[in-house]
Amino acid sequence: MAKIALRILGGGGEVGRLSVLVRVRPEERDGILLDAGVNFDEEDRPVFAATYPPKYVKAMILSHAHLDHIGTAPMYFISGRPRVYATKPTLEMAKLMLEDFLKLNGYYSPYEHYEVKLLLEAGEKIHYGQRIDIDGVEATFYSAGHVPGSTFTVLDIDGTRMGFTGDINTIETKLMKPANHHIIGSLDILVTEATYGSSLHPPRANAEKRLLSIIEETIDRKGTVLIPAFSIARGQEIMMILAEHDPGVPVYVDGMIRQITEIFLENPEYINNVNLLRKAYEEFNIVRGWRDRNKAWREPAVIIASAGMLKGGPSLYYLKRLGSNPRNAIILVSFQAPGSNGRRILEEGLMPDTEEPVRARVEWLDFSSHADRNGLLDVVRTTKPRYIVVVHSEADVAVKYAELLRSTGIPEEVIVAENNREYTLEV
Ligand SMILES: [Zn+2]
Ligand SMILES: [Zn+2]
Repeated sequence: MAKIALRILGGGGEVGRLSVLVRVRPEERDGILLDAGVNFDEEDRPVFAATYPPKYVKAMILSHAHLDHIGTAPMYFISGRPRVYATKPTLEMAKLMLEDFLKLNGYYSPYEHYEVKLLLEAGEKIHYGQRIDIDGVEATFYSAGHVPGSTFTVLDIDGTRMGFTGDINTIETKLMKPANHHIIGSLDILVTEATYGSSLHPPRANAEKRLLSIIEETIDRKGTVLIPAFSIARGQEIMMILAEHDPGVPVYVDGMIRQITEIFLENPEYINNVNLLRKAYEEFNIVRGWRDRNKAWREPAVIIASAGMLKGGPSLYYLKRLGSNPRNAIILVSFQAPGSNGRRILEEGLMPDTEEPVRARVEWLDFSSHADRNGLLDVVRTTKPRYIVVVHSEADVAVKYAELLRSTGIPEEVIVAENNREYTLEV
């Protein structure tokens, strides 16, 4: 019987800030780190995951490039030198994301550009299907279907198989093929995200249809449509939908979405329909400066811009120019965190800073890149784990999902992970 200790450094009872330390010989201090993310509080200040003494972290595996999975990772390079494993697109995007993070939050950050550079230099590129040896633990990587380059990691620890979903999506989108969990085989332990462990997403086709009809109605009354979107994956998904269904007006793409799109185009094997993405990138107007930006919002058009929650970046610039005119529409297609400008516009209908009423049409559509309850259950049904550890989920959602898991009769034990606790599993 093997003993494996899992220390929850972040992501227990909360969405994001995920970080789990795995110790395969609990009598020793050495461990392998799965993700090390950062969250933001209501004042938009970073909240880092807890850390483990860097000298004992032999390796870290980064599931994907979202900040809630990598934003704490450079901290391990202040005094340590762990090996870093991630896919090529994850490492390329991590550079942009971490540099942007430091630009906006450097004041609050214990690490600097130097540590980011060390982390990226340490990065070893892994690809799906590859097996690597980490001090006697065999790690294998599968596609998690969440964003390009995202991994579902399986650790083989002396015959005990432990899976880590990272963030996972089980449906096909234009950008992504679904997760590859069907080929993983059975697991003893599953550490699973459960962002939507208690809810269902409407069919993706409905969201696409609504998106296109709101755009059409807005263009008919000579309005402009602003679609604030996350730079990784969401922006490109919207671009691809519009490349397939020409809205008949210019489409502008602004912000970090552009650089991320270029990374995707250079890594076509990670993209579901790369030709459609290339068509979008070639046909749409890529905003490269203030002249383009100043022109984009003055005519009937569709503008896809970072940031997805209107926290800053070009989307906030456009909102200030488009939000007061009832002819225009603002379509939110990303998760809107409590306290974000996007959430305030939805709930209170007020513009940021000025507090003037928003007169443009405001809509929110579900284009989530996370599996819902049924998708998560499908992962459990196909991998049949004996132990399940629920992370990356609001506390009440995690409890509900755990109850659902117990009712399936599949796992012997379900643990709703709490931060700063260590769970020793005897497998
Ligand atoms: Zn996440
Ligand atoms: Zn993510």
